[in-house]
Amino acid sequence: MSLFCTACTNNDKDLLSRIKLRNKIIIGIKNDSKPFGYIENNELKGFDVDVAKSIAKRILGNEDLIEFVPVTAESRISDLNSKKVDIIIATMSINPKRTHIIDFTNPYFVAGQALMLKNSSRINSIESLNTRKVGIILGTTGEKTIRLLAPNAMVIGKKNYNDAFNLLKEDKVDAILADDSILYGFILDNKGYKILPARYTKEYYAVALRQGKENKELKEELNKILEYLHKSGKLNRIKDKWIPNLHKVG
Ligand code: GLU
Repeated sequence: MSLFCTACTNNDKDLLSRIKLRNKIIIGIKNDSKPFGYIENNELKGFDVDVAKSIAKRILGNEDLIEFVPVTAESRISDLNSKKVDIIIATMSINPKRTHIIDFTNPYFVAGQALMLKNSSRINSIESLNTRKVGIILGTTGEKTIRLLAPNAMVIGKKNYNDAFNLLKEDKVDAILADDSILYGFILDNKGYKILPARYTKEYYAVALRQGKENKELKEELNKILEYLHKSGKLNRIKDKWIPNLHKVG
């Protein structure tokens, strides 16, 4: 503590120091995005959960010192900026619009947007959705892509992935546009659906943080940890555990 800060409280410290002092990191995570963040037998699990645990282990020495807070694609930026959570690990892509209001680490995974359809569908391109109905998840990067590539499609937005999937199941939409990494979970669990081979974007998943000086040390630490997870092979092991056949889908 500096000489000029004799009355400093914990609140004056940077976020990384505060996390260490409280011996807990508060992480916003998905619970509707299998196999990245989902609940099975009352347990939160998935790729992002394992990344979160590896981060807690490196920062606090114990992978269980995490309070997980469920977030949705739509809520996560305000959950972060209102300080409900310290960081977000929730299939969140770095994108220019978001970097105006929040900050990101380096990426830890690359997904791509794809279309999921019923096996019986004859649709074979995103352009042919122009006269049709498409389901998307509100607050995701899919919203922009569909307006760009099929501007005349009728877009139906849902707050979570299960509701969007039900639209397709009940033939209320012709397709769903979302990250292949999450559509993969639905393909594994449900017979009769397919993912088209095209990928319309590259989605660089990263840990999201608030902007500002108090997050500087935490961002540096997170980038070091992600580099370590990459170089040590841990990230690849997490990939093999949760999405071993992603490349074979679509
Ligand atoms: N990666 C995409 C995004 O950040 C979609 C996945 C999601 O978070 O639901 O918007």
